[in-house]
Amino acid sequence: MERCDGRKKDELRSIHMEVGVLKRADGSAYVEWGANKVFASVYGPREVIPRFLARNDRAVLRCKYNMTPFSVEDRKRPGPDRRSIEIGKVTAGALAPSVLLEKFPNSMIEVAIEIMQADAGTRCAGITAATLALVDAGIPMRDLVPACAAGKVDGEVVLDLCKEEDNSGQADLPIAMMPRTNAVTLLQMDGEMTEEEVEEAIALAQTGCRQVYEMQKAALVSKYGGGDE
Ligand code: ADP
Repeated sequence: MERCDGRKKDELRSIHMEVGVLKRADGSAYVEWGANKVFASVYGPREVIPRFLARNDRAVLRCKYNMTPFSVEDRKRPGPDRRSIEIGKVTAGALAPSVLLEKFPNSMIEVAIEIMQADAGTRCAGITAATLALVDAGIPMRDLVPACAAGKVDGEVVLDLCKEEDNSGQADLPIAMMPRTNAVTLLQMDGEMTEEEVEEAIALAQTGCRQVYEMQKAALVSKYGGGDE
């Protein structure tokens, strides 16, 4: 099958990552993933506001996901909507198992993801960028958290759908994971696939995550130098 942008069925879009791009954030990263352009910034650990959210045994991790009005073809209405609130929540859920939150009781770690240009797969690009920003902020993590989707287009399971494929496709299944232990921290799906196709998509998305993981490590090495993993 020929994909609209000429990729093989198990081929990622081209991905570029940069760590430490914002001067006033505690940590930041920029990810270009195909036509997606995403900034992630981290603030904290710091005082919990509002106060009642504080936990005395661990830090609270809050993630905000926002699409700028000019990030999509038809101008998006600015401000939060159901979709962005949901993506913020699942992003926090994808990252939290990896962050050593118990090291920072009574504090808050804030992650802000800004989608400057969207072309499908922005939640995966956002999680990937947020991981780098957390590391850049010096927040201890059990593992990096790469994310990647697989889906079904023209009846075939393929890796990393672009917008055109997402529009014409039958399903999309994003995954985030901690490759060291194989723990999956995000698994969503929209559309329809058979049980076998779902298995195939999960396996394929995990191979994508592992490639993204290597790129994350390379981006951190190019910022901070090599050394032990
Ligand atoms: P993801 O970006 O994680 O794949 P969705 O599957 O919800 O999330 O969205 C797929 C794509 O649809 C987005 O990347 C974006 O290109 C487009 N999109 C999402 N929300 C809007 C919106 N409100 N207006 C226009 N396009 C949108």
